[in-house]
Amino acid sequence: MRYATFSTADDPTPRLGVVHTGGIADVSKLLAGTSSGTVPPRLLELIQSGPDAWRRTADLLMTALSQKPAPSANLLGDVRWHAPIPRPLKNIVCLGLNYLSHVVETTPGGEQPKAPDAPIFFTKAPTTVNGPYDAIRWDRSSTSQIDYEAELGVIVGVGGKNLPRARSLNHVFGYTVINDVSARDLQFQHKQWFKGKSLDGFCPMGPLVVTSDEFGNPQKKRIVLRVNGETRQDATTADMIFSVDVILEFLSRGMTLEAGDIIATGTPEGVGLGRIPPAYLSDGDVVETEIEGIGLLRNRIVLETSS
Ligand code: MG
Repeated sequence: MRYATFSTADDPTPRLGVVHTGGIADVSKLLAGTSSGTVPPRLLELIQSGPDAWRRTADLLMTALSQKPAPSANLLGDVRWHAPIPRPLKNIVCLGLNYLSHVVETTPGGEQPKAPDAPIFFTKAPTTVNGPYDAIRWDRSSTSQIDYEAELGVIVGVGGKNLPRARSLNHVFGYTVINDVSARDLQFQHKQWFKGKSLDGFCPMGPLVVTSDEFGNPQKKRIVLRVNGETRQDATTADMIFSVDVILEFLSRGMTLEAGDIIATGTPEGVGLGRIPPAYLSDGDVVETEIEGIGLLRNRIVLETSS
């Protein structure tokens, strides 16, 4: 299934939608009058309701979509798209340096690039989350070095601890697109990366969550990022140093993962920091972040005058 969170001009409350051919349908309206019981109003609640509820909801939705030719559909352009989980319960867990090509481009001249022996984990604050087509706002009092990082996002579906690698992917609800927007000056000024990764709006996400059964192998997807139409990143998730199953194994060791947790799996080469000279984002730039099988984010960089 392809789930999204959307609102309309008539009803600005973000709600759960299912994306189908040519449109997005309000899940609660689509299933009204069926024997669906209570339909979770938001994606996070659906995820938290567990695999039996996921299957039941998916079956009902497929039946409803096949029976009604125009099922409470909004044309895709008529809706406002929000991040699939607009306010996660926790920080977003991120991986640093998870593609060798990115390790190489960010290794200072004269040093030997070295892949990490274990995943490098850091996090972004929940207040970073931004819509898939919303502006990324910034002001010069905070940063002057805004960079982009295209990443595959993993949404945990079934929580757990000490997940064995062979079964860890069974704990994934689905996948989404994330731009791990980074303030490089803050990232390095403060040594620990958290602050430079956590400015408001610095985590566009979406436009969909594609459930793991539909997405298939997460290590075979093309990942692309363009700035003003120019391709800056173009790689495959096959090149991750730590694949999604391994990430889950490491992260869950002695630490409970919960339904709705979000993991950003690292970025390939092509970031602004890695260019000579570095090429950071400027006011008015449009960044498109795309992953095969999911869709693309399109976010404009907007300079705000600090008051
Ligand atoms: Mg990153």
